Amino acid sequence: MELWQEMVRDSVHTVDQVVEKFNIDRKDAEDLDEFFQARINPYYLSLIQYPGDPIWQQCVPAKIELKDFDAEEDPLHEDEMSPVPNITHRYPDRALFLVTSQCGIYCRFCTRKRKVGDYEKISMKGLESAFKYLEEHKEIRDVILSGGDPLMLTDTMLEKILKRLRQMKHIEIIRLGTRMPVVLPQRITQKLCNMLKKYHPIYCNTHFNHPWEITEESSRACELLANSGVPVGNQMVIMKGVNDDPSVVKELMQKLLKIRVRPYYMYMADETKGANHFRTSVETGLKIVESLRGHTSGLAIPHFVIDAPGGGGKIPIMPNYVLHRDEEQIILRNFQNKIYSYKNYADKNNPNGYNSKRKKRNGSKKPARKKVKVPVFEEA
Ligand code: SF4
Repeated sequence: MELWQEMVRDSVHTVDQVVEKFNIDRKDAEDLDEFFQARINPYYLSLIQYPGDPIWQQCVPAKIELKDFDAEEDPLHEDEMSPVPNITHRYPDRALFLVTSQCGIYCRFCTRKRKVGDYEKISMKGLESAFKYLEEHKEIRDVILSGGDPLMLTDTMLEKILKRLRQMKHIEIIRLGTRMPVVLPQRITQKLCNMLKKYHPIYCNTHFNHPWEITEESSRACELLANSGVPVGNQMVIMKGVNDDPSVVKELMQKLLKIRVRPYYMYMADETKGANHFRTSVETGLKIVESLRGHTSGLAIPHFVIDAPGGGGKIPIMPNYVLHRDEEQIILRNFQNKIYSYKNYADKNNPNGYNSKRKKRNGSKKPARKKVKVPVFEEA
């Protein structure tokens, strides 16, 4: 057994352990266990500094989850877009391939609780029909291995999957969607990286939510992946009490770059059953983006998106930097709320732009400009 497997085995998992460790009422602990079991491995447990802190909230079962009856179990309608077991095919050239129901911890905010935990939630018997689907659908260029967490598979099992995918010439890239570098970085071994190197191009998207998750161990894990030619991106979810604070997010993004992890997405939390207590307003998200744009390197700024309920996919949202736009000009504000005008030139998409009028006016150097009333913008 490898060290990471021993750490999974030694996780806080049973009702008795949850009651004893976190002083939770036994009846609540039993109900929570039935709803979505606990798994907190010794490494992630060691990151908790005090009850209710941002690490605790992500992994310790809370009674409030049981009050959330109305929300959906599958808010992104992944199951409706599943042509065969274990595959979700939402976007034209990409497919999600669920390879295990197991994870290094069970996150209380998880949007895929219906698939995570019990071994039978994602059947390994579904793998063959999933491979066949991927073989037949030549339009799929990009496969994302997910679950659960694909790095819960042994190196041998994972290699079997990668080898089979690499026999499909139309699959150009393979991505690993994994929280292991964050929650159980001991899983990222040199042996694993040596195996992954044989199947490039492989990308990894991981999921840091708070600066406390960046430790010596998780930094080492991300650097091992990067040194093996696996670019690592981060997907963060904005959560109340965890990271709904611009200074926390800025610190996280800056620290991620230092360990060679590129911030990729920042999501509004999904409307998931048992996790709505984590949700924040869109305004909070916009305020976080405002605090990043212009105030730190563009490399540290993730795409801010809502994964549209009902399966609409990721939709980007932005603070409003465009104050006015017409055929001739666009009026913008920058991160300091200073106002700028940019001439909108004519081309096939905008035949009446600034330069077309200039030509028509036979040499007149200053074309008549529409007067635009610029709104007064309050300091953010
Ligand atoms: S690691 Fe990912 S799939 Fe597993 S419980 Fe956490 S959020 Fe859900």
